[in-house]
Amino acid sequence: MAFFNGEDLRQVYKKAQAEGYGLMANNIAETNVLIGLLEGYAKRCSDLVIQVSPGAAAFAGGGNRTTGLTILSYTIQQLAKYYPIGVSLNLDHFTVNDMPLIKQAIDGSLVSSIMIDASRESFEENVRISHQVVRMAKGSGILIEAELGKIKGMEDEVASDEAFYTDPEEAVEFIKRTEADLLAISIGTQHGVSKGRDVVLQTDIAKRIHERLEEDSLLIPLVLHGTSGLLAQQIQEIIHCGVCKLNKDTRYQYEYARTAHDFYRAHTSSIVPPSGVEDNSSGLFSESNWTPNKSDFDPRVVGKLVRAKITETAIELIDQAGSANHTLLREG
Ligand SMILES: [Zn+2]
Repeated sequence: MAFFNGEDLRQVYKKAQAEGYGLMANNIAETNVLIGLLEGYAKRCSDLVIQVSPGAAAFAGGGNRTTGLTILSYTIQQLAKYYPIGVSLNLDHFTVNDMPLIKQAIDGSLVSSIMIDASRESFEENVRISHQVVRMAKGSGILIEAELGKIKGMEDEVASDEAFYTDPEEAVEFIKRTEADLLAISIGTQHGVSKGRDVVLQTDIAKRIHERLEEDSLLIPLVLHGTSGLLAQQIQEIIHCGVCKLNKDTRYQYEYARTAHDFYRAHTSSIVPPSGVEDNSSGLFSESNWTPNKSDFDPRVVGKLVRAKITETAIELIDQAGSANHTLLREG
């Protein structure tokens, strides 16, 4: 029905915060996952947040990120027309090095929100860069997500566990100074942190950040990255602690690969020549009596299965987040 702009998306998060549920934010790099998500979210009448990382934009554009982002944004906007839900697009983990593309995304109204990730910089530098993007987006309605964690460096194994987590007091100062619309926090799921060790989810920190922001009338939706491995109960817990947007990428990647793997393995004899037949696809094995089976190797066959699996997975995750039957369009 609609591609949501930043102001629409702000209402999506506002409603979720007021009614105590969350929204999964789902990464895509191509259309099978996108269509699978649209189908699942439409079935559950939930608004849909899609994300594109700089790497995904480069992939979609054959190496050109501007082209890739434009293609994905237009594809999303066109497909969104056919689904009775609101669909939004967030830029995921864009950094200070991506400023030209951020500007193009704002000027071209390609997105609903942008995550500027300067969390590896010093606090002051993080504030400066994040605020710069907020100012760039002013007047466009596009929401800005900034991240605050205390990661000193991905490879720094000397740092204590506490050093990875967001400080609630700093979070208040950070939001006041950056004027960001959403805050990504670090409570144990941050990428790269787990690296061989067990991650302990510090939900009390999320709760404290949420309370401190609320005390200063900053009703900022909190964001948690790297949630693919969390259990349903942990998802409930973090939503209860004020997390509103939960990023999911890895789970879909796994389901995609697993679906394709299982299908091709089950149909090996349709695709791989039997022993005794020369493995030479030039001329489509015209030297032998064996013929590969098009009804199995046509990429649309496995593509449809991938889409169906993504739909099923999306529904499972929508139900965990509680966003079913909450689309803004239903109330309009
Ligand atoms: Zn992330």
